[in-house]
Amino acid sequence: MKLDLVLLALASAVSLLLIYILARKRWLPPPQFEEFIAALPDSELDLPVEGPPEQESLARAMKAMAGRVRQVVEKANLEAARRETILACMAEGVLAVSSDLKVIFCNDAFAHAFSIRVPVKQGLILYEVVREPEIRNMLELVLQTGAKEMRRFRLPSAAGRWFEARALPFGQAPARGAVIVLHDVTDIQRQEQIRKAFVADVSHELRTPLAAIRGYAETLLDGALEDTSNNHKFVEIILSHAIRLNNIASDLLILSELDSEAPPAEPPEPVSVRDVIESVINTVGAAAMERKVQIAHTVSDECFIAGQRYRLEQVLVNLVDNAVKFNRAGGEVRIAGVCTEDGQIRISVSDTGIGIPSQDLNRIFERFYRVDKARSRPSGGTGLGLPIVKEIVSRMGGAVQVESQLGRGSTFTVALPAYKQPPAAVS
Ligand code: ADP
Repeated sequence: MKLDLVLLALASAVSLLLIYILARKRWLPPPQFEEFIAALPDSELDLPVEGPPEQESLARAMKAMAGRVRQVVEKANLEAARRETILACMAEGVLAVSSDLKVIFCNDAFAHAFSIRVPVKQGLILYEVVREPEIRNMLELVLQTGAKEMRRFRLPSAAGRWFEARALPFGQAPARGAVIVLHDVTDIQRQEQIRKAFVADVSHELRTPLAAIRGYAETLLDGALEDTSNNHKFVEIILSHAIRLNNIASDLLILSELDSEAPPAEPPEPVSVRDVIESVINTVGAAAMERKVQIAHTVSDECFIAGQRYRLEQVLVNLVDNAVKFNRAGGEVRIAGVCTEDGQIRISVSDTGIGIPSQDLNRIFERFYRVDKARSRPSGGTGLGLPIVKEIVSRMGGAVQVESQLGRGSTFTVALPAYKQPPAAVS
């Protein structure tokens, strides 16, 4: 497109010159005509308006032609500026080289990825701009074969980020050049790795209870059914592993619902935090009694959040259940809700339990992470409770924090946007 415009501009300039030369053969125009042509296309000087008829018609023709030259040049400039702006705004890094691997263009995104100072001087050898064998190999191959190339690689000099690179030729050999476009796929790559690790973790987590269920069922069938001193115990083991499988399946379902980021089925409703805390205590009460753990609660003011009641319940059941599970016999769990002046509710769940080692504090919110697997599993723990808490709380616009002292207890605090009055209409 740009080439067409330049050719058109040249053709117009040549016609202008021809008009001038033809006119000169018959009659000698004043010197302003020569100056007029010399100044084009940067400026358009005045031409003598009055004079012999040849002069007048030549002036008219030259002015008309000059107007067209100006239009063509303006169009070409606009086209070039537009293309440069598009390339500069692109999130993808773009670099073009000539047939001898000299840089002819490099956009800001490319320079930024490799911390190259902009503007990049044209004519530098590729290696002076970017020292990445992968990029050089791709461009060399494209220059040689004239065929496009696509690869995915990690580039150490771009802070180890992952890129999907496409290289394409332009022009014809031997003057063929090549352009490479780099698309940063670090986040996609990370997501893929997380997904693969998650699938591996899920399979691993399922294998243990499944192997146990199968093993004990086979033992029973092989004769242990008649062994009255053990058969009951074996069936109980099978039941506890089946419960664990069930817990894993339902926690995975909750996580997948949260991951799908689908908007909640019901509209947000005003949820009384006090009501939710009381119903959570009822849910966990039996387990707490069984472990001889006392649960106490205080809520400073009546406070409401806008959201789904069952989600806040999921958060608190997980936290209170852990506070009971990882407590000592005769221990205590305190739930406190404080509505702050800056429109937040801070709900803390404190226990007098085993505590969490400081090196594990920032890992306990990872999927399937358990400080002590041997202790968590028999109590039906999946290692998915805290990841669910974190996911729900962040979807509700809040945050969760933990403080812990080994052997003395832990406090989990959830901060959520809240209201002292139930909001009249929550949209
Ligand atoms: P689990 O199903 O094992 O309870 P969670 O994701 O809820 O999984 O918790 C992850 C791990 O964090 C637990 O296995 C436990 O090691 C630790 N943890 C969570 N809450 C507490 C707590 N209140 N006291 C001590 N350790 C805790």
